[in-house]
Amino acid sequence: MKINNSNKNNYTKKTPSFKRYFDDAARKEFRRLVEHYKRVNPYLKGEDIMVMQNSIDSFNAVYNGARTINTKNVENEIYKKFHIPADFKGNKFVASMTGLTLNIFHKLHLPLPTGIMVAAERPRVAASCDTLKRNITFNENNDWSDIQYRMIIEKLENWSSTGHFLATPIHEFMHSVHLFNLHKLAAQKQQIVDSLHSKMLRDFLKMDFKTIMIDQAGSPLVNQTASRHISQKVSAYGTVKPAEMFADIGAKMITYNLDRKTILPSRNPFVFKDFTEDKYLMKIMNDVWKGNVSEYI
Ligand SMILES: [Zn+2]
Repeated sequence: MKINNSNKNNYTKKTPSFKRYFDDAARKEFRRLVEHYKRVNPYLKGEDIMVMQNSIDSFNAVYNGARTINTKNVENEIYKKFHIPADFKGNKFVASMTGLTLNIFHKLHLPLPTGIMVAAERPRVAASCDTLKRNITFNENNDWSDIQYRMIIEKLENWSSTGHFLATPIHEFMHSVHLFNLHKLAAQKQQIVDSLHSKMLRDFLKMDFKTIMIDQAGSPLVNQTASRHISQKVSAYGTVKPAEMFADIGAKMITYNLDRKTILPSRNPFVFKDFTEDKYLMKIMNDVWKGNVSEYI
């Protein structure tokens, strides 16, 4: 089973496209869309729009820089600095986004994924994180240079938690962080069972903790109270599964603390015990982090 970050590619067909670089016309179109969605999306806040505006500036700088990079050099740099194999298949924009995301997670002292690649994914799946290996795949059939436009639409529609152009890689990296913890907790549970003296009891308790915890985190979220709350405070996509809720909150927390110029976190949002600034959301987040999701699925 893979935890995916799907996107609504079909939406772009219905709307005037201002693909790729955000020129003056694209910014004007952005302002028009914001005015429209302010009327129809009650959850849209001034801060959300500000993050998108800052992201557009960052995106333009990255877009210009990505044109001239050598993806083989980026792969070598990533291996040298983080000891992670990467294969971008020449995709300059994914290489740029990955480099930026690795630097962000490194600065936040978060566990990194075990590998990054560009490969064919199912249609409508932008990227995915393998639940056992914790490596991340970006769909080679996606037009990644169009990502800023798509993320803006997804945020304005309340589908995604953030309209930042790095939302997808950060979301996938957050899956890897969550899985890193679930793998660790499963190993601890396994150790307790293995250390039991009674063979009968060991056999009785024998189960694959890792698979169970991963499956539960990836099960449909059916708790209506939690779902309504996540929809208001995070995103509609976060209501799909506990794992998606975790990744989408993480993507919001990180992108809302990124410096426009350096594209690095200006502060670490996770050092605060109640970093979501919402008691119930924090409870859900902590439960999902520890793999205690039975009340949500
Ligand atoms: Zn996801």
